[in-house]
Amino acid sequence: MTEQNISNLSQENRTFEPPAELAASANVTADVYDTAAADRPAFWGEQAKRLDWGTPFTEVLDWSNPPFAKWFVGGKLNAAYNCVDRHVEAGHGDRVALHFVGEPADDTRDITYAQLKDEVSRAANAIEELGVEAGDRVAIYLPMIPEAVITMLACARIGAVHTVVFGGFSSDALASRIVDCGAKLIVTADGGYRRGAASALKPAVDEALVKIDNESTAIVENVLVVRRTGQDVDFDNDIDSWWHEVVDEASEIHEPQMFDSEHPLYVMYTSGTTGSPKGILHTTAGYLVQSAWTFWAVFDHKPDDVYWCTADVGWVTGHSYIVYGPLANGATQVLYEGTPDTPHKGRWWEIIEKYQVSLFYTAPTAIRTCMKWGEEIPATFDLSSLRILGSVGESINPEAYVWYRDNIGGGRTPIVDTWWQTETGAHMISPLPGVTSGKPGSAMTAIPGIAAEVVDDAGNPVDNGEGGYLVITEPWPSMLRTIWGDDDRYQDTYWSRWPNVYFAGDGARKDEDGAIWLLGRVDDVMNVSGHRLSTTEIESALVSHPKVAEAAVVGAADETTGQAVVAFVILRESAGDGGTEVIQELRAHVGKEIGPIAKPRTIMVVPELPKTRSGKIMRRLLRDVAENREVGNTTTLADSGVMDLITSGMKTAK
Ligand code: ATP
Ligand code: MG
Repeated sequence: MTEQNISNLSQENRTFEPPAELAASANVTADVYDTAAADRPAFWGEQAKRLDWGTPFTEVLDWSNPPFAKWFVGGKLNAAYNCVDRHVEAGHGDRVALHFVGEPADDTRDITYAQLKDEVSRAANAIEELGVEAGDRVAIYLPMIPEAVITMLACARIGAVHTVVFGGFSSDALASRIVDCGAKLIVTADGGYRRGAASALKPAVDEALVKIDNESTAIVENVLVVRRTGQDVDFDNDIDSWWHEVVDEASEIHEPQMFDSEHPLYVMYTSGTTGSPKGILHTTAGYLVQSAWTFWAVFDHKPDDVYWCTADVGWVTGHSYIVYGPLANGATQVLYEGTPDTPHKGRWWEIIEKYQVSLFYTAPTAIRTCMKWGEEIPATFDLSSLRILGSVGESINPEAYVWYRDNIGGGRTPIVDTWWQTETGAHMISPLPGVTSGKPGSAMTAIPGIAAEVVDDAGNPVDNGEGGYLVITEPWPSMLRTIWGDDDRYQDTYWSRWPNVYFAGDGARKDEDGAIWLLGRVDDVMNVSGHRLSTTEIESALVSHPKVAEAAVVGAADETTGQAVVAFVILRESAGDGGTEVIQELRAHVGKEIGPIAKPRTIMVVPELPKTRSGKIMRRLLRDVAENREVGNTTTLADSGVMDLITSGMKTAK
C-alpha cells in the first residue's frame, strides 16, 4: 500500500448468497457480465431494443470528441410515449401505474396507465398552450403528488427540458435554478402536506420571482398552480393560472413528436454535498435505455411486482427510479407524499403491507432512523411481500445493512446497494440480486456494460486489497452530457484528472475478491500521520457500537498529525447523555474495530447532523465547526437550524 492510497481497514467479512428461488428465475444471468464486457456498445445497442423508436439509430456510440458523447446516433423517439402510451397500446391500459398515497390518512388515488396517458396528454396540450416549445426549460416545484410525475412526462412529450426543484427548498435555491437554466414556466402548487399540516409552496415562487426581478428580466412567462391543500395564496392573473382550469380543460388527445436521441431531457442539480450544486444535463435515448435496463436488471422487475422508492422526485433517484426507469418498464408503483413518521412511525411498513410491495428502495439515513426507533415498529406489520431491498445515497453501514435485511427483509431478501450519481444518471455499481452475492457495506461490482476501476494517483488500477479513486473508464449511455451552459466546468470537474477517464470524486477500495467498497468523498478523506483514512469506515465502526445511532467523521487540522479524526455522534436513546465514559468507550471501540490510527481525537455528542434534502451528511460544514471556522454555504441543508444546535453545543462543551 502506498502512502497515497486510502488505507484499507474494514474488518467486515459477512457474505449473503442470492436466494436459490430468486436466482432460478432472475431476469439476468451470470454470463451477461462477460457478454457485455466483450462489446459494450453492442450490449447497449441490444438493450436499446426495449424502447420503441420512431426512427432507428444508425450507430450506438459516437465518442469521436471526448468527453462529449453521442449515443444512439440518428435515432428518434419520445420518452413519454415509451413510458406511457406504448403500454396502453400493448393492452395494459388498466394496469395501475401509480398507487398514490397522500400524507393525510385515506387520501389515496390509483392511476392506471390509460389514465396517466390522458393526464400527460392534457398537461402537454396545456403547457404548449402556455407557449412552451421543444427545448424550452420548465421548472417544477411540487410536492410528491401525481402532478409532479405528470408534468415531467408532459415536458418530455413536447421536448421541453424539465428541471425539478425539491419542494422543500427555499425561494433562494429556486431562484438560482430558474436563472441558471432560464425557465420559462414554473409548475407549482398552493402547498403540500408535511407532518400532518398543510405547508405553503406558492409564496416561495412569488418570492423567487421578486428575487430574480422577473418584472424586468421576464425570464418566467407563466406559473401553473396545482390546488393541493386549498390554502389561500396570492394570485396574479397576469402570470398565474390554475392547473384545474388550464389542464383539466385541455384535450386528452396529444400526438407525441419524435425527438433526436440527444435531445435534452432534463437538467438536475446535484445535492451540493461537496460544493455549490451543478446543473447536470441528461439527454433522451441513452438515459432512458440505461434507466430502463437497470430498473429491470437490478430490481429484477417482473410485471406483477409492486415497487416503491421513497425518494423525492426532486432528487435524481426520483427521476430515474420513480419516473423514467419504472414507467418505461410498465411497472406498478407506490408514490407517497409524506414522511415516514406521520401520523406514526410505522407508516412506511403499513403502506408496504397494504399494497403488498415487493421491491423497496430507500436510503441508509432512513434505515438508521428506523433502527433508532427500534425493530418493534416494523415487527407489527406483515412485510412478507418484499423480495428485494435497495439502498442508495451513501455507503450503507454494515450494521444498518444487516438490520435492514433482518428486520425489513425477514432475513430472506437480497439487498442491492446501488452506487451512482446525478451525473451517471442510472445505476453503475451494484449487485444483481439473482447473480451476485452481497457483502454488507459493499456495492460489489460494476453492472454489465459499465467499466469501473479503482486507480492510484497516477491513474493505474490498484491491486485487490487496496484503495484509491473510483473512476469510470468507458463512456456509458446515461452519462451526463455536460454541466448546463458550462462545458469547461464539465471537462474540468470530471475529465481533467486523467485523460478520457471519468473521475467520480469518491474514494473506493477493492477487496481480495475485487468487490468495490465506497469510502466517501475524496474531498473528505483524512490524512492522519501520512495515512489516508476513510470517513465511511470510521463512521461504520462507530455505528456498529450499540450506543450509537448515527455518526459523521471529518479530518481537522492538527499540529502533530497533520489532520486528526473528529467524530460527531448521535447516541441512541438508551445510551444516556454521553458522559466522558461513553466517549472513552467509543474511542476504544474504533481502535478495536479498525486500529489505533483511526481512533478519533475528539468525539462530540450532538443532537442532530447536518444533512442535505436527500439525506446525505454535509461533512464540509462539520469540518468548518471542527476547525473553528465560519460555517459555509447551507442552502441545501434539510434543516438550517441544525448547525446552530451543533455550534451552540460546541460552545458549551469548551
Ligand atoms: P455534489 O456533487 O453537489 O457535492 P452529491 O454528490 O451529494 O452533490 P448526488 O449526485 O446526489 O449529489 O450524490 C452522488 C454521491 O452519493 C456519490 O458520488 C457518492 O458519494 C454517494 N453515493 C450514492 N450512492 C452511494 C452508494 N450506494 N454507496 C456509497 N456512496 C454513494
Ligand atoms: Mg457529487
